[in-house]
Amino acid sequence: MIRVLPKEVADKIAAGEVIENPVSIVKELIENSIDAGATSITCEIKKGGKEEIRVTDNGIGIPSDQVSTAFLRHATSKIYTTDDIKHIETLGFRGEALASISAVSRTELITKTEDEKKGTKLVIHGGEIISQEGIGCPTGTTIVVKDLFYNLPARLKFMKSEAAEAGKVIDMMSKLAITCPNIRFTLISNGKNLFTTNGSGDLKTAILSVYKERDYKELIEVDYESPDGIRVFGYVSRPSFTRTNRRSQFFFVNGRTVKSSQIEKGVDLGYRERMFEGRFPIAFLFLEVDPYKLDVNVHPNKKEVRFNDDIAIITAVEKAVLNAITTKVSVVKAIDTMKPAKEINNVNTKDNSEADYTQVDIKTFLSNKPKEENLPSSKNNNQKFSFKESKGDYSAEEELLPEAKYRPFDFDELEVGGTIFGTYIIATEGDNFYLFDQHAAHERVNYEKFLKAYLSGTKDSQIILTPFTFDVPGAMAEEYEDWSPILRNMGYSMDVFGDNTYIVREIPVFMTMKEAEDFINSFVDEYFGDRKLENEIVIDKLITRACKSSIKARDYIKDEEIKVLIEELKLCRNPFSCPHGRPTFIKLSKYDLEKMFKRIQ
Ligand code: ADP
Ligand code: MG
Repeated sequence: MIRVLPKEVADKIAAGEVIENPVSIVKELIENSIDAGATSITCEIKKGGKEEIRVTDNGIGIPSDQVSTAFLRHATSKIYTTDDIKHIETLGFRGEALASISAVSRTELITKTEDEKKGTKLVIHGGEIISQEGIGCPTGTTIVVKDLFYNLPARLKFMKSEAAEAGKVIDMMSKLAITCPNIRFTLISNGKNLFTTNGSGDLKTAILSVYKERDYKELIEVDYESPDGIRVFGYVSRPSFTRTNRRSQFFFVNGRTVKSSQIEKGVDLGYRERMFEGRFPIAFLFLEVDPYKLDVNVHPNKKEVRFNDDIAIITAVEKAVLNAITTKVSVVKAIDTMKPAKEINNVNTKDNSEADYTQVDIKTFLSNKPKEENLPSSKNNNQKFSFKESKGDYSAEEELLPEAKYRPFDFDELEVGGTIFGTYIIATEGDNFYLFDQHAAHERVNYEKFLKAYLSGTKDSQIILTPFTFDVPGAMAEEYEDWSPILRNMGYSMDVFGDNTYIVREIPVFMTMKEAEDFINSFVDEYFGDRKLENEIVIDKLITRACKSSIKARDYIKDEEIKVLIEELKLCRNPFSCPHGRPTFIKLSKYDLEKMFKRIQ
């Protein structure tokens, strides 16, 4: 029943936004259609919606005796008392949309309920009812809005070009269509069908129908619920399929499209070790968050969403993404590496210039000290460490990661063959063929060992037979108390040997003599260069640097060493890429091969 709200209720509702442009009209009309239970909604615009907007739905319709009431200000069938406002589940409830729209255009409404034999057609120009008559039509509602602002020339001027206004409608409708994959949406602009979703309820099908990118078929499913009840689902791209900006990242909170720097940050963190700088994955992420955890002061129509607990959101998104991209399906496909470089961020198509690599973002990681995070572990992937204070008070605790939706990539299923070009290890598993980059794999293994040693302070040292010495600049010698604990934490043990000279008697157990010496020397360079900066940054550079002294490509390794390397890689938290973001291994499926040999099309 459509009724005009009592004054005291109407006054409690935030003043409605004025109709600004075609997109604001389309949004209101579509929301009405959704509220009316429509399963199929068609939106047609002409000249960006300035000339005509037509929305047709198969919802419940409006009984003929209530049609004219629907256009009165504060007329709604959705609430009646102030209390109702709190429990509202429908999208719009201010009872203003139809009144405002019909006041600034030539509007036509054609509607019929299921019970009625005949429908109703109502014409309103600039808020004045021109005619109301019976009409034959199917159940549902069509609203046609023509000549927007014909009676308000001043407002006409504020509209953008047809293309710009159409763009806004397309963007809004696209997002709406993937938010409601169970509704069949059609969008037509100047007679051209831009998309039709099938309303099957399948999110990926809807994404493919709307965004029409062939590569989106490869998107990986995300489905995760954090221990504090934040659900994150949707699709993201494999780390090898990225863009140069965030335009292909879409975020929704409780069914509404939002912009959120927290969600962006979570995505970045989830991918941080697999991405080159300046690249962004594709993401369609839907969050379901207890409404009480959202900032209530933010208007529901505002696009910027604020959360009460940013860290919880960031962490939930990060874990959701990380879980998704560490599954079998997300291993970089060799096929990708054959695409043009602009499409991918894979090293195989780039030269080896360091500048292209993302620095391992240990900075962010260390700067979130109070926050507990997954960190590398030597035994299994379920252990995490918490970095409490810079004094070296670390603790390790067990945590069971939530079951990933997809089976994680299983190193134990690999059949490892030999190496080719002295650089790549070959392996197969089922219908897949893998190539491991020996160097990248080693970098990853060492990186995680360093990091773990530093963070846990386990100090697994080995005594060396011939101690070696190293010198530091005078200014650095004065800060011995600041920097020596960092080395000690990793397993070095040293004493003062002269004014600026130190003698090393023990080195970390996982390093060779040469690596240990190289590491100290780069440590000195980096530390001295940056000693005014935070320790974390030094550590970041150090560890990244140290990885360079790992086994070099083309170093011949024996079968036994291959096994050890794969075994160690398996234990890494992120076995899929080296600390610079290059893949440690790539995949070629039997299917890919058959395609290349044109056995199949
Ligand atoms: P509100 O949506 O805030 O209630 P509107 O001005 O948008 O206010 O709509 C007024 C009323 O008209 C709605 O409450 C609803 O009963 C009816 N209505 C509007 N559009 C439709 C539609 N597409 N199908 C069925 N009923 C509709
Ligand atoms: Mg409405």
